[in-house]
Amino acid sequence: MNAYDTGKMRALLVADGFVETAEPEEADVILLNTCSIREKAVDKMRSALGDYRAMKRNGSTVTIGVAGCVAQQEGQRLLDQYRELDLVFGPDAVPQVRKLVREAIRSRKPVLDTDFLDLENYPFVSEVDPADHGVSAFVTIQKGCDNKCTFCIVPSTRGAEVSRPHAEILEEVRAFVDRGVQEITLIGQNVNSYGLKQAGEITFAQLLRRVAAVPGVRRIRYTTSHPRDMGDDVIEAHRDLEVLAPQLHLPVQSGSNRILRRMKRYYKRERYLEIVQKLREARPDIVLSTDIIVGFPGETDEDFAQTMSLLNEVGFVAAFSFKFSGRPGTPALRLKDAVDPAVAQQRLMAYQERQRELSREWMLSLEGTVQNVLVEGPSRHDEGVVCGRTGTHAMINFPGSIDLVGQWLDVRVTRAFTNSARGERV
Ligand code: SAH
Ligand code: SF4
Repeated sequence: MNAYDTGKMRALLVADGFVETAEPEEADVILLNTCSIREKAVDKMRSALGDYRAMKRNGSTVTIGVAGCVAQQEGQRLLDQYRELDLVFGPDAVPQVRKLVREAIRSRKPVLDTDFLDLENYPFVSEVDPADHGVSAFVTIQKGCDNKCTFCIVPSTRGAEVSRPHAEILEEVRAFVDRGVQEITLIGQNVNSYGLKQAGEITFAQLLRRVAAVPGVRRIRYTTSHPRDMGDDVIEAHRDLEVLAPQLHLPVQSGSNRILRRMKRYYKRERYLEIVQKLREARPDIVLSTDIIVGFPGETDEDFAQTMSLLNEVGFVAAFSFKFSGRPGTPALRLKDAVDPAVAQQRLMAYQERQRELSREWMLSLEGTVQNVLVEGPSRHDEGVVCGRTGTHAMINFPGSIDLVGQWLDVRVTRAFTNSARGERV
């Protein structure tokens, strides 16, 4: 989501005559887009800001801005802490980035914008990021989140949920296809609640069908969906739409009903397993990945054992797993029964160790098979090697030249690792 917002800011600023540079010393304006989902992300911002503030102390006249969720969360406090800052604005102000940057360059006083925009006619940015010239692109379908998961800061930093009009989404998809994009990933915080609150809007399942019908769209993914809103209509779309990738990231957070209740996730373990079973019936080749939080306040050994047993029962092929991090202003921060950090760390390691085994087992099961991949680009590590992805999102590197990018090729998997594999063209 942040990478996407950064791309939109780049698109708007470039259209306004700005040129991007990779060298901070060359820049007239530096914008730092920030995440506050966990404390660690905030630490990263502080370390980057330290470097930029030093530039200014050494006489640079660069305009420095902080955007994103930390900006929204801290607002004026950031300006008070970092006198060198010229601009602070939240995620909702991204559509106004040009105006804000110009103001910050001109004004002697720092500029602050942490207002939420009007929900009616929310101005989703249609300008396409000039750096986006791959075969795969993100398309936002929704902003904000109306859920109240007790650990999560997103609703307070990104504001209320708004679904983007479907006509606009389809237009952006067509524009991407015209530029050579073949794979579309629909993004939002809770994509499967798309349209439910906008009178006359289509549902997420209908949107999937419309996107699938756009000529030139060869593969669709979406992220992130919430188990609570995983209706049968979406599962049927997985059954019917060949272009809908056989892969789903469906965050579960915990395997314990007691903890799920405390997190206010509004589903039980049993319901999650039922969704998984239905998805597998609808699309037998589907693979699942998830998000896990360990050490949520009050999590006992028994609760954690439930998370481990869910991992084994579902057999997730990948997961983003985190230790609970208390976020400012969230209800979970007020819970008194915090888990000992050392215990949380042990649980995280235990989870990740088992997850690695399962990821590896899955990759090993691909060894010797022939997989159809969409070639995305050169391998990051090896000359003369390109990287392709299967529908199940497995990354396969194989010898080939850059002009294979954008082709769909059959590749035999010769050697599997934990997160990728090596192969050769058939
Ligand atoms: N909207 C998405 C997730 C957005 S945040 C969803 O509901 O699934 C991405 C992930 O960060 C979450 O799924 C959760 O696992 C993790 N996360 C969010 N807040 C956290 C916190 N306070 N501590 C630890 N992990 C957190
Ligand atoms: Fe946060 Fe829950 Fe909304 Fe996801 S659904 S962004 S975890 S509040």
